[in-house]
Amino acid sequence: MEFCTKLLHDKSAGRFQNGATLPPISQVCAFSYESAEELEKVFAGKAAGFAYTRISNPTVDAFERRICELEGGRAATACSSGMAAISSALLNILGTGDEIIAGAGLFGGTVDLFRNLKEYGITTKFVTHMTIDEIKKHITYKTKVIFGEIIGNPGLDVMDIRSVSELAHENNIPLFVDATTATPYLIRSIEYGADIVIHSSSKYINGNGNSISGIITDSGNFKWDFDKYPVLAPYKKYGRLAFTARLKNDTWRNIGGCLSPMNAYLNLLGIETLALRVERICENALALANALEKTNGVKVNYPALPNNPYYPLVQKQFGGKGGGIVTLRAGSKEKAYALMNALKYALNATNIGDTKTLVIHPASTIYLNSTEEQRINAGVYDDTIRISVGIEDARDIIEDFTQAIEKVNGKE
Ligand SMILES: *Cc1c(COP(=O)(O)O)cnc(C)c1O
Repeated sequence: MEFCTKLLHDKSAGRFQNGATLPPISQVCAFSYESAEELEKVFAGKAAGFAYTRISNPTVDAFERRICELEGGRAATACSSGMAAISSALLNILGTGDEIIAGAGLFGGTVDLFRNLKEYGITTKFVTHMTIDEIKKHITYKTKVIFGEIIGNPGLDVMDIRSVSELAHENNIPLFVDATTATPYLIRSIEYGADIVIHSSSKYINGNGNSISGIITDSGNFKWDFDKYPVLAPYKKYGRLAFTARLKNDTWRNIGGCLSPMNAYLNLLGIETLALRVERICENALALANALEKTNGVKVNYPALPNNPYYPLVQKQFGGKGGGIVTLRAGSKEKAYALMNALKYALNATNIGDTKTLVIHPASTIYLNSTEEQRINAGVYDDTIRISVGIEDARDIIEDFTQAIEKVNGKE
């Protein structure tokens, strides 16, 4: 089955109770049983069933199965937000004294989270680019996770997943990828060697900007060394699924960042059109990037532009599609603001992956709490505007940006 068909007809899509074509929304906290014995069995995992929505819920379960199947993983765990997914996944195996190696050009919230983790003795070594040579320098016996975004938001660096995963595995370290901006449509990163795949499903998976959520998919491929990851030792019997076994039975359920059934349902609605939306978004983004490149007064960054250093990797990994984010530099903060304020359609909002085109000035918003160095590493300058391209008619988006740029710089 091809991917677009899979979005509608794979095992986890389709028929639910009474032949319903979408899962019922089980908007409840708890599930009752006829006898105390039955509930005991459900709690002990000896009978199938649901007990309490923080631990599992049928609608959330349906969403987890969808993503797991689309990503080609073995198990998925849905969370209340992308950040809940990233923090639950990391805290599931890390403790005081452990180190993470991460790409510096990460989403601002993740950079902030790494600072929080430092207070618990978990240190992050940042590399400017996620290349083998740079990562190698930082690997020690303390390195427990290599973490990177497949397409950095908003730096737009692209990770060569195959080569990074090979390096990680040679050193018995799992590769965690944040695949939010790449989406499961552009890449199934498990096929390229990623071990744990995380999405902020608030973005392209939901697609309409109506629910905050996140999801962790376990490839089931990583061979955990239980001496190196002692917190997983009690789950040894699950073998390569020990990570998810601990997550579901311990870390994730105790942190409590579960997904609401209503939001799981909205994500399931959204994901059916993932391919259509991302296809259109990538077309629009490339058209916009091409047009902006020819427009005086701004500098554009988009990985699928032929002069971009990541162009060959974009061809190889994503079949030439560069994702939905384009950034531009307007010349100064004042010009960036004037340009944003002159836009007719693009909304000034802190989100990506919506159907509508959105813009933001990252330096004064998402990166407000970051240091100068962190901002520069993430490609965030005082004059940077991040555009999350929507599904409007390309001609209207292009016209909107070019008129705004002309307004700021005067017609040349
Ligand atoms: C938005 C985003 C997150 C955080 O997700 P939330 O759902 O907002 O918590 C993490 N990583 C990337 C790349 C993002 O774009």
